[in-house]
Amino acid sequence: MVLVYAEATNGQFKKVAHEVITYGKQTADVLGTECHALVLGDTAGAESLGKYGASKVYRITSPQLEAFDAAVYTVAIAEVAKQQGATVIVLPHNSTGKNITGRLAARLEAGSVPGANAVPTMKEGFFTVRKPVFSGKAFADVQLLTDVKIISVAGNSIPVAETGTDATVEDLTISLPEPKTKVVKHQVATGRVPLPEAELVVSGGRGLKGPENWGVIEDLAEALGATTACSRPVADSDWRPHHEHVGQTGVAIRPNLYIAAGISGAIQHLAGVNNSKTIVVINKDADAPFFKAADYGVVGDLFEVLPKLTAAVKKYKG
Ligand code: FAD
Repeated sequence: MVLVYAEATNGQFKKVAHEVITYGKQTADVLGTECHALVLGDTAGAESLGKYGASKVYRITSPQLEAFDAAVYTVAIAEVAKQQGATVIVLPHNSTGKNITGRLAARLEAGSVPGANAVPTMKEGFFTVRKPVFSGKAFADVQLLTDVKIISVAGNSIPVAETGTDATVEDLTISLPEPKTKVVKHQVATGRVPLPEAELVVSGGRGLKGPENWGVIEDLAEALGATTACSRPVADSDWRPHHEHVGQTGVAIRPNLYIAAGISGAIQHLAGVNNSKTIVVINKDADAPFFKAADYGVVGDLFEVLPKLTAAVKKYKG
């Protein structure tokens, strides 16, 4: 059986949960087995995960699971995997999954592939998982040789597919340790989708000249319903908060659309954005390296181009 950890935020499933279940179902089909989902905490609509391919949903509700604690969540997932006989465990490759995958692998003495972007195959009889390496410039095919196999799946790499109907939900009781950490404050910076999950991103670089000019980026993001991002020097100069910095040393993103204005396209920046489905570059220097990675490019002054783009988006949206 393939066990998928379906993460919910504030009791709601987001796209990432549907992606990992789709991935789990496709993995189960490769192995000729079933895909089951695991929900931790009190979450409405757990049965709806069946639509994405989970034939059964396990749910654990416990005071220890109210706030995320990697050690407690690891125990919960590991114990359900053992109890239900999972041979493959699938998690999202977001901050939660990154926190858990290694711990889970150690606890279950399992091989793991973090950040996979393709459904496993049985190549020459071996369970083989593909993942990007060298900042997405190449890929590696990794054979998982252990009885239990763990995969975390990169966001936006699997199109969500609705293949089934509501699943049955089974409540489980597992003995869990006390959390080792306590979140005392959780503040959401903006009402926007967080960068790792964003499908539309508008990003600015040093070409913006200063934080006081960010209105042109904000306006376009607002019109599109996009999330804002920036290059590293921008965050280093405190023009924008560090959580907006994308690239090799920042957040790696895979949106459907990445609009970069006043960013030169250094290799370290591209490392975090070159998996975007469509890249639009606005730069006044026709020789800026970013144009080589762009699907669409505008050679021009961003202070003229961005307001025109914003007006066009607003007009289109009515
Ligand atoms: P610049 O290189 O200064 O480019 C500004 C661009 O704006 C230019 O191309 C210019 O033509 C254009 N421009 C100027 N005015 C206008 C205008 N009016 N209209 C249109 N275009 C205009 N960088 C990252 O972004 N992310 C990382 O994670 C990262 N990690 C790094 C790790 C290491 C170890 C190192 C050494 C560097 C790293 N960097 C990273 C820095 C990276 O090498 C570049 O220095 C950085 O990306 C450049 O940022 P920028 O493009 O905003 O600025």
